[in-house]
Amino acid sequence: MQSAKPILLAEDDDIDAMTVKRALKELNVANQLVRKCDGEQALEYLREHEGPKPCLILLDLNMPKMNGLEFLEAIKADEKFRAIPVIALTTSGEQSDIIASFRLGVAGYMVKSVDYAQFLETMRVVDEYWSLSKMPESADPALDHELETLSQIENAVL
Ligand SMILES: [Mg+2]
Repeated sequence: MQSAKPILLAEDDDIDAMTVKRALKELNVANQLVRKCDGEQALEYLREHEGPKPCLILLDLNMPKMNGLEFLEAIKADEKFRAIPVIALTTSGEQSDIIASFRLGVAGYMVKSVDYAQFLETMRVVDEYWSLSKMPESADPALDHELETLSQIENAVL
């Protein structure tokens, strides 16, 4: 991933969340991973957290309270978050979910593999794609630069 912005993971399953974390670590993705357990929490994070917006959202579809599709509908209706690419990362290979996700503007739809090696390969492709692709800058590049410097310092200290 090219920017120092966080990656937001909306995932209710602890094991799946750990698997994503493990894969990103193995792929040397340095972006902070922010994990939220349902759509409501993820939306709250987007709306209330100060600092850079995520460069990418990895979205599980089946979640309690607010599911992935409802979350997607909410953020795509909001000018502030519409440009953030969202990748559905789900166990559902249902056509209806795929169609609904693309209608609501997902950038990609990945079916989670139970095989870790295969899952890692999926995440590698996601990382490479979003490393190559140009992405929108923040409305305030100066602030972004400052936050980037800050996170570099943090990384150096840790
Ligand atoms: Mg789930």
